[in-house]
Amino acid sequence: MIDGPLRPAQRTQDFTESVIREMTRVAREVGAVNLAQGFPDFPAPHGMKEAAVQAIRNDLNQYGVTWGVPALRQELSRWYERRYGMEVDPDRDVTITCGATEAMAAVFLALLNPDDEVVVLEPFYENYAPDALLAGAQARFLTLDPPDYRLDPEALEAVITPRTRALVLNTPNNPTGRVFDEEEMAGVARVARDRDLVVITDEIYECILYQGSHRPMATYPGMEDRTITISGASKTFAVTGWRLGSVVAPPAITGAIRKVHDFLTVGAPAPLQQAWADTLATLDPAYLNELVDGYRARRDLMILGLREAGFRCGTPEGAYYLLADFSAISREDDTTFAHRLAREGGVAAVPGSSFFQSDKGNHLIRFTFCKELATLEEAVDRLTRFAQAESSGGEVS
Ligand code: GLN
Repeated sequence: MIDGPLRPAQRTQDFTESVIREMTRVAREVGAVNLAQGFPDFPAPHGMKEAAVQAIRNDLNQYGVTWGVPALRQELSRWYERRYGMEVDPDRDVTITCGATEAMAAVFLALLNPDDEVVVLEPFYENYAPDALLAGAQARFLTLDPPDYRLDPEALEAVITPRTRALVLNTPNNPTGRVFDEEEMAGVARVARDRDLVVITDEIYECILYQGSHRPMATYPGMEDRTITISGASKTFAVTGWRLGSVVAPPAITGAIRKVHDFLTVGAPAPLQQAWADTLATLDPAYLNELVDGYRARRDLMILGLREAGFRCGTPEGAYYLLADFSAISREDDTTFAHRLAREGGVAAVPGSSFFQSDKGNHLIRFTFCKELATLEEAVDRLTRFAQAESSGGEVS
């Protein structure tokens, strides 16, 4: 621990650096195939890249409107209306942020007081607990159990206390691949209404579903005024480095979210916001179908490869991750196993414990499959050889 004038603030002491990005560094260092961090290794849509170049050439290079360039807020309002029948006022309800990551942090800071509680479903995407800590709030965890990871409204009620203000709901889910069904969603909505909670949603994978359709929590009866909907361009358009996120929130809280966002980042990159707006304005629905078809093929290749190598995993209904049980291959803890798999097996993945506060992730490892088929084939080859060497107790051949 650092002492003296540069001792870090207390609020930074209770969480560690991102394990997902740490594993990306390990992958680079040892030359492993990176199935750790969820970013595509294939190009963004040509038209979207051209739109960004054009926006820069058109001298859209200064700050945009802090809460988002008007054309983009307009397009997002149309997007929510067209896809989900949601009425979203571009001037009062929408804030554009630097990725869904900033969106989540800004919402926590804008909504939660110190000592307020926020319910987080375990396993969870690793940002939510640090976001709660930065806001001075407490995360309360509700564990969902494999293989189904079903969300039981009664179990949810049981973790709520008088101090609980909000619940984070991520569907399609990272890391489980669950898409909560109508019954689970309606159950959450009922609990939120009964217990006067806000639901903060992370819908960044809204377009990556292998069956059925996505229905935002904000469209459930009585939820429009108590739901804060977070999404972004990163996953739908394979532009994770552009840092474009969005918040749709009732006007009562939008003002506070915009203030926090303004003083954190001023705004997301203006030319890239314009390119997102242009892309949405001219979007061919076939693009979204091809996106899903591509991911389904990748998912199926990985499921088969992992199972044949001896991992146990379910079938994701959405998003682009597989949470796999490696206990038939190794008895090590997840961190030891993940580091050895990267160094000796040549495949980087994320230790399961990064998604848990309990010890229930210690025999799990998360692979992302948002990579070219050739990348995944190479990874499966390496995983198979690694697993064979483990079972024969010998060296990787
Ligand atoms: N959401 C991605 C993942 O879970 C990327 C995380 C990040 O590095 N921001 O891997």
